[in-house]
Amino acid sequence: MIGGGNSGAEAAIDLAGVVSHVTLVEFDPQLRADEVLQRKLRSLPNVEIVVSARTTEVVGDGSKVTSLRYEDRDSGDAREIELDGVFVQIGLVPNTSWLKDSVELSPRGELVIDERGATSVPGVFGAGDCTTVPYKQIVIALGAGATASLSAFDYLIRTPVPEGGERDAADEDAAA
Ligand SMILES: Cc1cc2nc3c(=O)[nH]c(=O)nc-3n(C[C@H](O)[C@H](O)[C@H](O)COP(=O)(O)OP(=O)(O)OC[C@H]3O[C@@H](n4cnc5c(N)ncnc54)[C@H](O)[C@@H]3O)c2cc1C
Repeated sequence: MIGGGNSGAEAAIDLAGVVSHVTLVEFDPQLRADEVLQRKLRSLPNVEIVVSARTTEVVGDGSKVTSLRYEDRDSGDAREIELDGVFVQIGLVPNTSWLKDSVELSPRGELVIDERGATSVPGVFGAGDCTTVPYKQIVIALGAGATASLSAFDYLIRTPVPEGGERDAADEDAAA
């Protein structure tokens, strides 16, 4: 597992339940995951934590991955871990910087939405991984898309008709 933030720690804990050994590789001198997750990680007998490690290469034999190379940032030494799989959990940045002056964003750059998908701007709705919704998963993004669509429809039908926009009896007759 590459990455010692919350995503990496959660994924390593998950993985430790189904594989014989997990090595978590972190660039910084310490993990950045919440303390409760770090404690859980350190309680697992089949998890090893490597810090100050700059991943340099994923090595394969032509048909499958075989090892991971990294630089020990303290000594500068090149090291290699033999393994069967690599999972990269170093975080994702939502592509929302173009919205920063118009819609409220969280400190991580996610669109702040309420339970209806509404943002801080009336009539603007958000859904999916780029929002503050917890658990970034496909099924959740799909449901949030449906919520945001229904909310947009609801917003539009409640938008007041402009002054003089109502149809009168003459319009009804013409339509008939
Ligand atoms: C490695 C990896 C593995 C994953 N595995 C799983 C899994 O097993 N199960 C699961 O449920 N979820 C998984 N996920 C999470 C899942 O991919 C996301 O939750 C889901 O794709 C979110 O959907 P979305 O529509 O919100 O965002 P995205 O799928 O990211 O779609 C956003 C789209 O918007 C486009 N876009 C971005 N900026 C702009 C712009 N300015 N203008 C126009 N278009 C733009 C992007 O190109 C992209 O096509 C995984 C994610 C990763 C990275």
